[in-house]
Amino acid sequence: MNRKKIVAYKPLPSDVEAYLRDHVDVINVDPKDKAAFIAALNDADGAIGASVKISPDMIEGATRLKAFSTVSVGYDQFDVDDLTRRGIILTHTPDVLTESTADTVFALILASARRVVELAEWVKEGNWKASIGEACFGVDVQGKTLGIVGLGRIGGAVARRAALGFRMNVLYTNRHANEEAEKQYGARRVPLDELLAQSDFVCLQVPLTPETRGIIGAEELKKMKPSAILINASRGPTVDEAALIEALRNGVIRAAGLDVFEHEPLPADSPLLAMKNVVALPHIGSATYETRHAMNRNAAENLLGALDGTLTQNIVNREVRMR
Ligand code: NAP
Repeated sequence: MNRKKIVAYKPLPSDVEAYLRDHVDVINVDPKDKAAFIAALNDADGAIGASVKISPDMIEGATRLKAFSTVSVGYDQFDVDDLTRRGIILTHTPDVLTESTADTVFALILASARRVVELAEWVKEGNWKASIGEACFGVDVQGKTLGIVGLGRIGGAVARRAALGFRMNVLYTNRHANEEAEKQYGARRVPLDELLAQSDFVCLQVPLTPETRGIIGAEELKKMKPSAILINASRGPTVDEAALIEALRNGVIRAAGLDVFEHEPLPADSPLLAMKNVVALPHIGSATYETRHAMNRNAAENLLGALDGTLTQNIVNREVRMR
């Protein structure tokens, strides 16, 4: 029987690639060479990768393709309905990245509140000449109110850190109640406007969908406290970045801690880069050695399972398997 062929459009750890090669032929492509990428997809049964927009026109000729495995929990780079129509299974990697991403969110909360990055740079520039005064003060995190927009897996891990570690009050906005977070962390579900008005830290952890695109814009920023800090480690377009820049410039909110941006990498001329009250990270939510390895392995297993019909979890479009 012919071995199946898959396209790897991101570099994989060598042991994960070897595991895949034990079962299928692996064709490595650089997705920046779009023509080569499309040609490879046209001749493949499956594909594994991340961070590349996959539009319907790119898979028009990929008639053999049965599965896409994204090395991420978010799948906003795919047109899921289109994949479903074509009978292509989409798999993703929830859970394995939850704790590392929640750590990144908390790093942003602490760094923004205590001005860690700004003041560390100030020290390295040789400015620490006397004991510091109010000009270097930050604001407390412990005991404050944290509002989580999108309290799911990662939001839940953030809520745990906040409630149990920092004795924070947790508010959240979801379309459905998260009873576990209410019971375990005293989280209280409130409408978005109330969350914005009451929170000292507003943390976005929704997936990027048509409903969540621009969920925080100029009007929402105005509803936040002037002392509040916005944290975004979801996807850049959940926030209207131009409105955020204006709000930070004009003191509408105190500061922002951002792991994601409208355009990534963040353009060198972005006003955000010159703002002292912005902590900007290069989309490192899940970027630890351990977690990235676990994600790659999980995605490889998902792909093989989807191709041989044994996969039961991590499937975005279950309708495909049920047909
Ligand atoms: P999840 O478990 O699905 O949680 C998402 C939460 O958002 C759910 O509780 C959902 O609750 C809520 N939600 C969805 N649509 C909403 C809406 N329109 N209004 C209000 N709430 C809404 O996903 P997760 O594993 O926590 O991951 C969340 C997102 O984080 C991913 O999709 C990804 O984009 C992002 N992420 C970023 C990084 C990074 O590197 N920065 C790393 C990992 C993940 P309801 O369904 O009840 O509304």
